[in-house]
Amino acid sequence: MAVPFRCTDCGRCCVSLGRSITIERRLTGRHFDCREAVHGERFRAEVDEVHRGAVPARDGCPFLIWRAPGTSTCTCHASRPRVCREFRCARLRVCDGAGDECGRLVGRGSLLTDDPSLKNLWEELGPVGTDDAADRERIDRALMAGGYHGEWYD
Ligand code: SF4
Ligand code: SF4
Repeated sequence: MAVPFRCTDCGRCCVSLGRSITIERRLTGRHFDCREAVHGERFRAEVDEVHRGAVPARDGCPFLIWRAPGTSTCTCHASRPRVCREFRCARLRVCDGAGDECGRLVGRGSLLTDDPSLKNLWEELGPVGTDDAADRERIDRALMAGGYHGEWYD
C-alpha cells in the first residue's frame, strides 16, 4: 500500500537542488527576494523568527542549516518555493529489521544503498521500473524474504 511521502530531513536535496536557489535582494533581516532556476520562478522567502541570523550551510541552498550531521532544517519552510514543495526524492524507501532506512529507489529503478546484502538482493531482482502493482508485490516479497521492509510512496 502506498503512503504519503515522508521526508527524513537528510538535507541531500537541499544541498543539490538547493544550489538552484539564489537570493536576489535582502529586504529585512528575515525576508529575501529569491529566484530558483529549475522552474525559473521568483519567490519571497521568510525565515522563521527562531532561525533569524542562523548561519547557513556552506554548500547548497542559502536557507539550509544543519541541526546535526545529516539532519537538516529549512529555515524558510513555510515559504519555500514550488520546486521544494513538489520534490520527492524516492518512490520506495527500504528499512532494515531495526526500522532504519538503508536504501531508497530513485528515478526509473536505481536503488541507492550502502548495504551490500541489499545491493545483492536488488541485483537478483532483475529489471525494475514498470511501477505496477505486480512489480511492487514482487519487490515487497523479495525485501521481506531478505529481512527488509519496503514503504512505497504515492
Ligand atoms: S526530500 Fe528526500 S532528499 Fe530531501 S531532505 Fe527529504 S528525505 Fe532528504
Ligand atoms: S528552500 Fe528550504 S527546502 Fe528548499 S532547498 Fe532551501 S533549505 Fe531546502
